[in-house]
Amino acid sequence: MTAPAAGPPAQDGEYEAVIGLECHVQLRTASKAFTAAATEFGAPPNTLIDAYTLGLPGSLPVLCGRAVELALRLGLACGCRIALRSEFARKNYFYPDLPKGYQISQYDAPLCQGGALPFMLNGQRREVCLIRIHLEEDAGKNLHAADGRASLIDFNRAGVPLCEVVSEPELRSAEEAAEYLRAVRRLVRFLGVSDGNMEEGSLRCDANVSLRRRGTTALGQRTELKNINSFKHVQKAIEHEIARQTAILRAGGQVAAETRGWDAQRGTSRSQRSKESAHDYRYFPEPDLLPVEPSAELIAELRAALPE
Ligand code: ADP
Ligand code: MG
Repeated sequence: MTAPAAGPPAQDGEYEAVIGLECHVQLRTASKAFTAAATEFGAPPNTLIDAYTLGLPGSLPVLCGRAVELALRLGLACGCRIALRSEFARKNYFYPDLPKGYQISQYDAPLCQGGALPFMLNGQRREVCLIRIHLEEDAGKNLHAADGRASLIDFNRAGVPLCEVVSEPELRSAEEAAEYLRAVRRLVRFLGVSDGNMEEGSLRCDANVSLRRRGTTALGQRTELKNINSFKHVQKAIEHEIARQTAILRAGGQVAAETRGWDAQRGTSRSQRSKESAHDYRYFPEPDLLPVEPSAELIAELRAALPE
């Protein structure tokens, strides 16, 4: 299936777009999620590292309490249910920017579930429900030389604490998705949870997009768009994806379950890989960390400290 030209029609009379966003919010802590190495932006490559960041044998994680508090603050502001016991899990995959060979994340026992985020769209109040907000760590950054002969890895970002805010698939247009993302940024900034800076990568988002026939309720096959680094491009990438899927469905084809990378320069996306499923990651409970059990006092204290 050749890619259609980008641009309108973003929505087609026959099909309705269904969009869910996964936002990665870098938490404003001085140290990394599981070790004392610093988190500042823009330091010379590989200066914010230590034995744990590099996954050296024998090094063990120690949870940053401030990261938990910031994630709880965001969860409380969104009206989430706060888990009195949540667990970390290892998400296993092999990639050069992931020195341990797994990412510490949360799987079946996340810190926050449910909740919602209200925002305005064209003068109307909208509210998008959240599935969950969980804690995880960031990966390092691969840098590829222009001549294609070498790749370098900067581990400064590896292990930086993130919370992932996962929306229900309730967004209905590219414009609405961009507005929702703006609301996420406003909220995390207002709460002091993150600087929400997309250019510096402290707010990133993946967009899940599917189509379904208008009037039906079952979810269609989705694709996941990665590499979206600005509000403008969230909107463009989703518009492009809606047009691409519309053309496939109109031609009687089927949308493939895949992860697609957005190419901002070319204004198009490319298939990166077929979509992985949870079992591909061989999730299992992180054996080196205790469950997170925030006390009722802490939760009450954080709730009382929320701004209006
Ligand atoms: P994964 O981690 O594999 O991406 P999740 O179940 O955590 O899977 O879903 C991630 C996001 O995908 C959520 O924001 C959800 O709303 C969205 N989503 C799930 N199914 C669909 C669909 N059919 N169309 C659009 N978005 C979807
Ligand atoms: Mg996903």
